[in-house]
Amino acid sequence: MDETEKKNLYNSAWNHWGSTSQIDILIEEMAELTLAILGTRRNGVTYSYAFSEEIADVIICLEQIETRMKDFPLSLSQGTLWDQVLEIKEMKLERLKNRLMEDIERNLPEGIADTITDQVR
Ligand SMILES: [Mg+2]
Repeated sequence: MDETEKKNLYNSAWNHWGSTSQIDILIEEMAELTLAILGTRRNGVTYSYAFSEEIADVIICLEQIETRMKDFPLSLSQGTLWDQVLEIKEMKLERLKNRLMEDIERNLPEGIADTITDQVR
C-alpha cells in the first residue's frame, strides 16, 4: 500500500469510527504488545510471531495517530502537533546519546570506551 492509500485509509477509519474508538484501539494494541513481549520472554526466546504481529498492530495505530497529528496545527507559527512530537523525539535521542556516552566512559576501560564513543558521535 502506498503512502497516499495509507493516509486515506487512516483518515477514513478515524472519521468512520471516531477518535475515542481509535485511541482505545491503540491502548488495546499496546496492551497486547506488552503481553506478547512477556509471553515471548516466558518461552525463553527474544522474538516470536505474536511479538511481530503486535508490533505491526501498534505501528499501524501510531501511523494513524501520526497522520492525524500532521493535520492538526499547534499554532499559526509552530507547525503541527506532529512537528512537536518530532522536536521532543530529537531532544530525547540527544539525551539517550549523552546517557550512553557517559555510561560507556564511566564503565569501560579508556581505549575501548573511546572506540565505542567515536562510533556514536
Ligand atoms: Mg493486536
